[in-house]
Amino acid sequence: MALTTDDPYLGPVVVSEEDIRDRTRELGARITADYQGRPPLLVGVLKGAFVFMSDLARVIDLPVEFDFMAVASYGSSTRTSGVVRIVKDLDSDLAGRHVLLVEDIVDSGLTLAFLLRNLAARHPASLAVCALLVKDVEPSVAELAYVGFRIPRDFVVGYGLDMAERYRNLTCVRRYEGPESLA
Ligand code: 5GP
Repeated sequence: MALTTDDPYLGPVVVSEEDIRDRTRELGARITADYQGRPPLLVGVLKGAFVFMSDLARVIDLPVEFDFMAVASYGSSTRTSGVVRIVKDLDSDLAGRHVLLVEDIVDSGLTLAFLLRNLAARHPASLAVCALLVKDVEPSVAELAYVGFRIPRDFVVGYGLDMAERYRNLTCVRRYEGPESLA
């Protein structure tokens, strides 16, 4: 059965596959220009950012390196717990590196604020954020250097984003309209 056929939990498309592709190309071109002579270490936040990071990295025309960390946030509910915990830490030493943190989505900004504090303490040469999606609230964190799309406050899935580990492989971002927990 196709992934989205007859799935009553999936609402309207919030960001289309084509818009993601075009915007990612634009961000990649900007990052390529901004990081000339100082190739970035891309730090992805698992699991949600892995799809975006994979596409973004391939439109950055620089010798980038990759690392990943995982933090616990939503679990299987659509509401943030406000508690952020490192589940998997980076392999790289950040000292002197130009770190570009790649995020799937910024909602309250709690996760990002925590990550920025944590990464800044490791003395990178520079630290910036590229977020595919930013919910339409002003996050109380340092400015985001690169933003894909500002979207409404609805809970969304697809293109790396899940609901109870489902829907990450949707090629676009859609509104989730199902129950708050999935069996
Ligand atoms: P924040 O700390 O900014 O409130 O939330 C950030 C994290 O919560 C994201 O990295 C993501 O894991 C999760 N999150 C926030 N909004 C959404 C959403 O609409 N859909 C999904 N699938 N995850 C979200």
